[in-house]
This record gives sequence, C-alpha cells and structure tokens, in this order.
Amino acid sequence: MAQGHKMEVLTEYGHHTITVVGQYNHLGNIAHHSGTTHKEIRRKIAQGNAAFSAQRRTLFQNPHFSVRQRADLFNTMVMSKVTYGMDSWLFEDKRTKSYFHSAIFRLYRRLLKIKPDAAISDDIILEQAHLPHPDIGLRITRLRYLALLYKCETVTPWAVIRQDQAWCQQIMEDLQWLWNLVSRTTKLRDPRIHFAEWEYILRYHRSYWKTILQRAQKLCALQHEDRLLLRTLHRDTLAMLETHGTLQSAPVKPALLTAQCASFFGCMQCQKRCRTRGGEGAHLFKVHGITAFERQWIASTACEACLKEYHSFDKLQNHLRTATSCRAVLHARRLQRPLAPGIGSSVNSQLRDQHDGLLPVLQGSGPLEQPVPQRAIERHHNQLMEALAILALDFTGSDADELFLQMKQIILQEPIGWTQTRETLVYLADSLTEEFLAEISVGRLPFLDVLDRLGDPNTWGFLTEVLYDTANCDHLYDLDLYEHWCATLADCD
Ligand SMILES: [Zn+2]
Ligand SMILES: [Zn+2]
Repeated sequence: MAQGHKMEVLTEYGHHTITVVGQYNHLGNIAHHSGTTHKEIRRKIAQGNAAFSAQRRTLFQNPHFSVRQRADLFNTMVMSKVTYGMDSWLFEDKRTKSYFHSAIFRLYRRLLKIKPDAAISDDIILEQAHLPHPDIGLRITRLRYLALLYKCETVTPWAVIRQDQAWCQQIMEDLQWLWNLVSRTTKLRDPRIHFAEWEYILRYHRSYWKTILQRAQKLCALQHEDRLLLRTLHRDTLAMLETHGTLQSAPVKPALLTAQCASFFGCMQCQKRCRTRGGEGAHLFKVHGITAFERQWIASTACEACLKEYHSFDKLQNHLRTATSCRAVLHARRLQRPLAPGIGSSVNSQLRDQHDGLLPVLQGSGPLEQPVPQRAIERHHNQLMEALAILALDFTGSDADELFLQMKQIILQEPIGWTQTRETLVYLADSLTEEFLAEISVGRLPFLDVLDRLGDPNTWGFLTEVLYDTANCDHLYDLDLYEHWCATLADCD
C-alpha cells in the first residue's frame, strides 16, 4: 500500500490520524481515488486465471465433461471471482473496457483449449463456449446485484445510490435491455414507465427474478447464434455464387469512412496513404524517425512558457499542441534541445504510474525568461522548399509538364508527410517575388499552375487511392456489411 501523508481529524468519538493515500484495499477490492482502475481489473483477471489453472485438468479442460457442463463450472468458479465487486463499477474509458474484453476472451479460449493466437473470431468463441459476451455477463451481474440491494433494503443506503447518477443510468439501461429480451414472455411492462411492477418482483419474488435473468441470458445466446447462422449463410451463398454462379467477382466496399475519404494524409517517400493525421505522424516517427514538431520544446514535464507542471511528457505535448500563446513564446526562443522521451516511452509510462492521477496540473511560479520578439511559426519544410525553388530557377526550356514531373520526383524522394508538403508548397507560392518569377523559363502563369497541380491531392495517386474490403469467402463479416454488398449487387442488375 502506498505511504501517504497523515491528516489529523476530530470526530464525535475522539481524535484520529488518517493516512491520505491514492488507493487502499477495501474488502478485497482496491479502492482507487478515481473509481474503477486498470490495476484492479488486472488483479481480478489474474485471480480468474489462477482459479482456472488450479482446476484446469480436473475440471475445465477435462474431456469427460461436455462443453456446456464445463461452461457452467467455469461460470461459478472462475467468472464469479473475476466479476466479484464489479456490479458497482462503470467502465468509463475505452482502454480499460477493451482490456477487460480481451482478457475474458482469452479465458474463454483457455476453456475451449484454443490457442491464444488462433484465427477464430470472438463470435464463434462465444457460440462454442456457450458463454455470454463480457458486456452481457456484466449486465447480468449488475441486475443480480440490484436484487441483492432490495433484499437488504432496510440497510441499503439508497440516498447514496441515487447520488450515483451514472450507475443508476446504467442500471436503467440494463433493465431496458432485459425488458427488450423478455417482454414477450412476461406480463411486466416497460420499466421506464412501470418501474413499480419491477420493484414488486425484486422485493417479493426473488426466485422469479432469477428465472427472468436466466431466460434473458438464454435468449441472448440464441439471438447470437441466429445472427452467426445468418452471416455464415451469406458468406457461403456469396462463395457459391462466385465459384459456380454468375457472380463475376466478390463484392467490395470502401475501407475508409466517408469522412476519411475527403481528407488526405500520407507519406510522400513511401507513397502510402494514412487514414488520419495521427497515423501520418506515427508513420513518420516509426519509419523515418521524424518527431512531432512540439517535441523540440520539451525538456522536462513542465511547460517553460506558462510554468505549468504536467507530470508526464504526453500531457505536456498535448498542451503544446493546442496552446497558441505558449507555442509562440517557445518558438521565439529558438531552443535546441536533446530529445526528451515521447508518448510511448517507458519513462513516460513510469511517470504516469507514479502520478496516478493524484495531482492536478500545477501552476509553477518563478522568474520568466526575458520576452523575445515573436516570429511566426513556420510549418513548411525548409530543405524541400529550397530544393524546389532551385530546381525551378535552374530549369531551362519551356515545357511546364517536364518541370512538373521533375518537381514531383524531388517531393517523392523526401520522407515527409502530405500535410507538410502542402504547407511547403503554399509557403513557396506565397513567398515568390516578381524578380524570381521573371527568372523562370517556363513563364509565370504555367509555373504557378505547376505549383497548384503539385498541391492537389489528385496528383498523387496513392493519396486518393480508396482501399476496398472484399467479401473474401474465408472470412466472416458483419451482417450489415453483407447487407450492403447485397444491396450493391441488386443495384448493379
Ligand atoms: Zn514513409
Ligand atoms: Zn504552457
């Protein structure tokens, strides 16, 4: 347990000393100051794996039991350990949720004796294991917990629970989910309008509540099976048509979202399109070792312009990405710094662990450096701009197309993103002087046209290239994708 500072408190029963810590163990769970934590989930998963390993040969992987029997045992002996205490949790961030999902699926794979890296989709695993999706499992856990709260309702701190609006909202969604599944099998009405009926069941008919929950779980599994069957049917039909029928080639769908199609990012040297600006930055760093612009201003975890302490490098970098005034001040200082660790580095993760969300951004104080005259932040690539300008001046002849091709070649040799390439071309066009233009052999207007064409994403085939998902018959796609393909095929005829 972390050692914290002591705090003296005076209560009606006397004087106490409380240790102020970021987290402590409370009834077998780590209570963390932020609520749910990644650490606690990791601990629960480890407990689940230990429980699994302890009875692996005798029970969970014992071929003398049917899969269904093993799944039941797994639910009572392993999953109960993993989800213990989770009934009051909310998964707020995506990272934690996806960690939880994949950890549960790894456990399911162990139960089925499937290798962790075997290419079997999660949907098929669920069907084979006769176990619910982790999200559904959590819903059931929460709804069971709700019954427990009613069971001891005289001591349940309802006022505290009502305060936790996010959790109440989640329970309402769970009830709605339950009702959607079982509405045709019970007389219960919509819980949003007739909650009293549900309360009555929770208070006086607990065994019926269990029956409803079991029924919902079963229906959910059947629905899942149904969807899987439908998808398999689509896949097999398309494959059959392609092999024996009239289908010329497998149907395709653009791999980019519509919004992504209209924006262009990529690497000029590798001639590779990226989906997002972040992807472009990541490619430039991973493949060409080009770091983010802001990192030249980072020496410690504090911003040297506004003196705020951010406790880790990634948070400072995020600040410098958007804080216009800090950017301007730091840029004016013309800093030359050795590179500090970046977002994915181990030093940064250590700092994040150490900080553990315990402190807010702290405003530092102290003498500031003498202000220097500000200069505009130039995002263009100096060498590329010079190379292009020199080529244009040295070019003899009147063929603008030839000049265009040569300039294009120079750009393609540079490890540079499309974003900066366009900025460089705009910068070059803006800084052209009349004297410079007079020297250009192809003439003023054709040269400006060449720059225009270079700055057009359509000039670069790879930037506008739309990659397609094909309905390969060795892969099971989502149902909506099959529906999309079928609709396209119907339109073609
Ligand atoms: Zn590249
Ligand atoms: Zn700042």
